[in-house]
Amino acid sequence: MERYDVIIIGTGAGGGTLAHRLAPTGKRILILERGDYVPREKANWDPREVNVAARYHTKETWSDKEGRPLHPHTNYYVGGNTKFYGAALFRLRERDFGELPHAGGISPAWPITYNELEPYYTQAERLYEVRGTRGEDPTEPPARCGYAFPAVSHEPRIQQLSDDFARQGLKPFHVPLGIRLDEQNPGASACIRCDTCDGFPCLVHAKSDAQVMCVDPALRHPNVTLLTGAYVSRLVTSASGHEVTSVQVRRNGQDEFFSADVVVVSCGAINSAALLLRSRNDQHPKGLANGSDVVGRHYMGHVNSILLAISKCPNPTVFQKTLGLNDFYFGSTEWPHPMGHISFVGKLDAATLSAGAPAIAPGFTLELMARHSLDFWLTSEDLPDPDNRVTLDRQGNIQLAYAPNNEEGHTRLVAKLRSLMQGHSSCAEHGHACHQGFFSRSLFVGQRLPLAGVAHQNGTIRFGHDPKTSALDVNCRAHEVDNLYVVDGSIFPSSGAVNPALTIMANALRVGDHLTERLG
Ligand SMILES: Cc1cc2nc3c(=O)[nH]c(=O)nc-3n(C[C@H](O)[C@H](O)[C@H](O)COP(=O)(O)OP(=O)(O)OC[C@H]3O[C@@H](n4cnc5c(N)ncnc54)[C@H](O)[C@@H]3O)c2cc1C
Ligand code: SF4
Repeated sequence: MERYDVIIIGTGAGGGTLAHRLAPTGKRILILERGDYVPREKANWDPREVNVAARYHTKETWSDKEGRPLHPHTNYYVGGNTKFYGAALFRLRERDFGELPHAGGISPAWPITYNELEPYYTQAERLYEVRGTRGEDPTEPPARCGYAFPAVSHEPRIQQLSDDFARQGLKPFHVPLGIRLDEQNPGASACIRCDTCDGFPCLVHAKSDAQVMCVDPALRHPNVTLLTGAYVSRLVTSASGHEVTSVQVRRNGQDEFFSADVVVVSCGAINSAALLLRSRNDQHPKGLANGSDVVGRHYMGHVNSILLAISKCPNPTVFQKTLGLNDFYFGSTEWPHPMGHISFVGKLDAATLSAGAPAIAPGFTLELMARHSLDFWLTSEDLPDPDNRVTLDRQGNIQLAYAPNNEEGHTRLVAKLRSLMQGHSSCAEHGHACHQGFFSRSLFVGQRLPLAGVAHQNGTIRFGHDPKTSALDVNCRAHEVDNLYVVDGSIFPSSGAVNPALTIMANALRVGDHLTERLG
């Protein structure tokens, strides 16, 4: 059995970032990834292939609570889901780290403070070359320094919307983005500012994903090895159960075993929980590191909506994801509870709309709607409910139980945006009458759970101080297994209402520093 200093399982926001941090230590590192590289092909940027044919989604079938089949919109590739993400790279707000009362209950505190993670947020923003402007977002947490790159500019229709919001007394801001666009020097820019970014892999490798920014550079170190097509089926422990002694891998139809001083699980919140549950043994009868019985529980994925605001005037924006609005993140004058975050998805086209079966605006076809829509993305926090959980069915397949909660803030956020849009009057031709109304794009077609519920998966192996209520300690090490760590979205005790990836990256860097010290 080949022995390493560290084995990292998974190459997404957590595992890829950790590999980058540990590579220069010279320690022997084995990275195991079940997927392959995303093939570079024209289909990368084809909405029909990506959004309608689901070309890059796993073909695995999970099931919901009732055992009905569920086709998860998730991706198994080098770089994990960051290959497909919209690269909106937000810090959680400072108050998200404390206990926060919501209308639907309490959002629990993290075992670390914002200040403890702040230096790592800065490092993650540098590593992923985030573009942004400090000081615009009214809920932005304090940062030691500015962004290293200027914010991605708004196109005219989005700038008009930003001006409309500002006239209404709000504070629209530029979304921090990990796309490597150089607007001063377009000829040399890696990013060409295209309309197939959010949800698509970047054909020209200009998106700051975990493969391009972390895994590829880590592999330039001779001490780092990556095995693709390497599905980790089980972690095996010593007789005492106190350490992982080998990692069982299915590769090319064969079982192989590897061992390491430290084993880090980073398969994404659902698959990491499934791996620990699959690895149960006599010492860990409820699943590895699961004496607390929290592994798989408290699954969160945000309360999300895609809303199409249709105007008489067209929206010719190419890259739409530049504008955000957090004025109602912690509540409003009429509603004192957190409501959430407003921003955009990538510009939707008719093919993508046809897959989501939206209600059609009167007098519009799908093509016309796509040409005239502003495609908003609204995110609110869902709360960690122990019954929202990942389990395994009799065949060992993933089963996901999820009942939405804390929805009132989200409903109010939607109503708020609706009334704001009705108040916009800057259209020179139509004034107030330019706005035709809101149409939601269903996220539920062909599946039991909303797509975004899986895209923002987190919370299933929470970290904390108390081994009775958490599976991991403050360094993300399993309370019960000395050499086992988790660094993906599983660790979140609560999820805030901004996108999760930057927090996963920052935490992976933090754990990376701890591991560097531990390994000497
Ligand atoms: C369409 C889309 C848009 C998104 N947009 C944004 C955004 O704009 N901003 C943002 O912050 N977040 C966004 N997200 C979410 C973001 O991508 C995830 O939060 C992030 O990638 C999670 O990181 P992770 O390390 O937890 O897991 P992942 O990135 O999913 O990585 C897990 C890795 O583990 C591998 N793996 C799984 N099981 C095994 C196994 N048993 N053996 C070996 N390998 C295994 C997987 O193949 C994968 O490579 C988006 C997600 C999607 C799908
Ligand atoms: S070229 Fe730029 S906008 Fe297009 S997919 Fe790549 S990073 Fe995104």
